[in-house]
Amino acid sequence: MKIRALIGAAFVVAAFCWPGPARAAVSETLSVDATDVPTQVWHARLRVPLAHGGDTVLVYPKWIPGAHGPVGPVASLGSLRATVDDKAVPWERDANDVYAFHFAVPADATELDLRYDFFEGSAGGGNITGQLAVLDWNEVVFYPQGAGIRDVTVSADITLPAGWTSATALPPVRPIGTLPAGHVAFAPVTLETLVDSPLYCGAHGRAYPLASGNGMTSEIDVYGETDADIDATPDQISHWKRLVAEADALYGYRHWQHYHFLLTLSDVESGRGLEHHSSSANGTRERYLRDPDIYALNSDLLPHEFTHSWNGKFRRPAGLDVHDYQQPMVDDGLWVYEGMTQYWGIVLAQRSGLSDPGEFQQTLASYYAALDAEPGRRARPLLDTAVAQGLTRAAQSPSGRFARRGEDYYNESALMWLDADTLIRTHTHGKKSLDDFARAFLGYGRNTPPMVVPYTRADVIAALDRVDHEDWAGFFRTRVDEIALHPPLAGITRGGWRFIYTATPNRFQQMRERANNSVDMTYSLGSSIGADGTVAYTIEGLPLARAGVPPGAKLLAIDGEAFSIERLRIAVDAAVHDGKPIGVIYDDLGTIVTTNVPYRGGQRYPQLVRVPGTRDLLAAITAPKTPVGVH
Ligand SMILES: [Zn+2]
Repeated sequence: MKIRALIGAAFVVAAFCWPGPARAAVSETLSVDATDVPTQVWHARLRVPLAHGGDTVLVYPKWIPGAHGPVGPVASLGSLRATVDDKAVPWERDANDVYAFHFAVPADATELDLRYDFFEGSAGGGNITGQLAVLDWNEVVFYPQGAGIRDVTVSADITLPAGWTSATALPPVRPIGTLPAGHVAFAPVTLETLVDSPLYCGAHGRAYPLASGNGMTSEIDVYGETDADIDATPDQISHWKRLVAEADALYGYRHWQHYHFLLTLSDVESGRGLEHHSSSANGTRERYLRDPDIYALNSDLLPHEFTHSWNGKFRRPAGLDVHDYQQPMVDDGLWVYEGMTQYWGIVLAQRSGLSDPGEFQQTLASYYAALDAEPGRRARPLLDTAVAQGLTRAAQSPSGRFARRGEDYYNESALMWLDADTLIRTHTHGKKSLDDFARAFLGYGRNTPPMVVPYTRADVIAALDRVDHEDWAGFFRTRVDEIALHPPLAGITRGGWRFIYTATPNRFQQMRERANNSVDMTYSLGSSIGADGTVAYTIEGLPLARAGVPPGAKLLAIDGEAFSIERLRIAVDAAVHDGKPIGVIYDDLGTIVTTNVPYRGGQRYPQLVRVPGTRDLLAAITAPKTPVGVH
């Protein structure tokens, strides 16, 4: 198995010997000026040593780790100026590759000096508010065309706005307190480690230490819009500490030395979750620590991104272990990379107390129902949603969403891994479980520094077979490669639970409807409908689509009365008994349409219920592995 060390000289490995990093071919110096960040612009200066003059080609990262796609935001780059010894050097973009830049460098030049700006929010940005900012280093760096990301070393530093602090997994060149206020310089790291180590900064930041021992530390660095946003309760801190302890118990070993959960709380910059080896870049709503609904609805965010340090960053599908950021990534392993992470994310959320009891079961019900409602299942296997990930992500738009399928390699794979987990538990009479696979395959039997151990599907199958002898190749063939008319249900039923629909939402569904300000009628009328009447999507074969109501239409009236969510619920409930079609008036891009929607099925919400007299494997799966209350 190919094993390559990722971090250079800054990392000391004493306990065992790994192959040393390749000798750095290029040592760049990158200075970022963040003082204008409140106006949405990062200024950067990059100095690149030159072996010789002439046509020099530098590239801007295109295929971005974690995004797994060619989404490097080159369109947001501006004001590029190049000099050698303070004399301007002309540049020209490669006509065949908009990510490559040619510089006509004098023959005797030894260093190319670049200055440029990165404008947030213009394309692929949106990481800044007036009070906080997230710097993804891939947005502000170039490197020589053809150079490997483990062969380029970058010495980076940053100047912050007055009064701001910062947090990142990058090692500072000197302890933070000994540097001039507002300026942080980092030890040289490989380009791979730099891009893997986003920097969070802001006017309102607070670090909570979580765990330490064996020379390892973990902490959560919270940045908010106000000081009130970043005050965590003792319960919340306890959940985070238990998350680290539960991940330790699950994986057995760590592949990081100092882990940072980076978290922004803002309604302007929210909805972020990006994995790294020694940190995760998380972002959610401003009131996360103060609003129990928002806290609960994001319960698997930190466990998911934390799990990626093991599954996705340390163990990685071979097609995602790239030489450089211009090399296309092969996404056919995302049903392990993302799918199993989705599974461990919701399991660890329960084991750590981040999610409420019962949430695991109801999450599985919501996954199953949404996937089973997709007409697109008849045409497209799960594997294709992973392989075409770049397109799949774009396919989240409302039109035809269920017909095309979305990023199903997350939730459908989670159901598949539950299927595998319960299969192992049943066949081994509870002696083995998917935990054993996680410990062997992801824990890997020892602590290591951040590094990549790539794998193939055959490696996954062999490791599973060592836990429990099954036809794993056939298991994945029918669930991943072939058309499957229904998502995997066996994990739920083998777990002692039954999938049903009920007429009333459970408290998690009520919470989601409140947070989204909408009513979820996906499994009745075939859409989620906003409080203003907007039809988010329609599903082929279900009542709204059959009646010709298009996605994006705005419901104006229900049975002759002005639209409201309550009015719609009453009409759907009444139709069960009176059998009359629901009278609907809607606005379709300015055209007012009156129609009838025949439907007698009532409101339908997916749920899991216990099957009496069976063994509750879902309870066994979600039971904490560490004593509660000692952290
Ligand atoms: Zn993920």
